[in-house]
Amino acid sequence: MGQVFSIASQKGGVGKTTTALNLGVAFARSNRKVLIIDADPQGGIVYSLNKHPNSPFGLYQVFCGEAEILDGALPTELENLFVMDSGIPNSNSEIQAFEDATRATGLFRESVLNAAPYYDLILIDCPPGIGLISTGALIASDYAIIPLQSEPLSLRTFPQLLQQLIDIKKNTNHSIEIAGVLLTMFDDHSMASQIVHDEVRNYFTEDLVFETSIPRDTSLNLLYTGNKKLPDALAELESTSEGLQAYYHLAEEINFKFFSRSPNELIAKSF
Ligand code: ATP
Ligand code: MG
Repeated sequence: MGQVFSIASQKGGVGKTTTALNLGVAFARSNRKVLIIDADPQGGIVYSLNKHPNSPFGLYQVFCGEAEILDGALPTELENLFVMDSGIPNSNSEIQAFEDATRATGLFRESVLNAAPYYDLILIDCPPGIGLISTGALIASDYAIIPLQSEPLSLRTFPQLLQQLIDIKKNTNHSIEIAGVLLTMFDDHSMASQIVHDEVRNYFTEDLVFETSIPRDTSLNLLYTGNKKLPDALAELESTSEGLQAYYHLAEEINFKFFSRSPNELIAKSF
């Protein structure tokens, strides 16, 4: 059964989509079968991974009960990596329809659960904020990954997301856990980054913050914007991009924390 991770934050522009993309790539490179679901009607993540998306089914059709996630998952240029579109153009009225559909059906969780056995990992890229779509995604997830931009005051919005997670855990999805807070766009030479780093380490217990932080690295964008095929672009950047290497480390960290089982656990499971 695949593990489901939502990448969510109260604040916009903190690196959710970048994390979904690069973590997906990192896991696919280590032979895990990964599905990235674009739950942001304004996200367009599918265009970064599949230059000619051709599925009539996206998440919107899942919300409407017209399709299953498994019907809409598209292959990408990278082996083991699949992507699912939000399935809706981004006019305001349609975004409202997308949100309304989430409220009306609750089919998101059911469809994610149906898809989970076919993947090792499902990553859901949430829109900014904790509206209906992000809430629906968190209800469907085993874990939340919470990117936090290494900027002053970035912790300010955290209590709202935390409260929402507490409510979801209490009322609808008792098994959801925080996988970790992820510091993004970290700049070694910046005092502000260092201050946020220290604040985060003081605010949260050690197990709630990923050891890996993601450096500011504009080369991350080159992977998905140029004309090169993704495997070729990766081959060029894998040894030079600090950002990509950090996402590979993060994948290892997640792998160790959430996929490895101790021998005792394995023995216990087999009885
Ligand atoms: P939104 O809330 O709008 O969906 P988001 O949280 O998904 O935003 P991204 O789109 O991933 O954030 O990132 C916001 C911007 O920051 C983008 O232009 C992205 O290219 C850039 N960015 C993200 N991570 C990094 C990084 N590690 N180094 C440099 N630039 C980055
Ligand atoms: Mg995004």
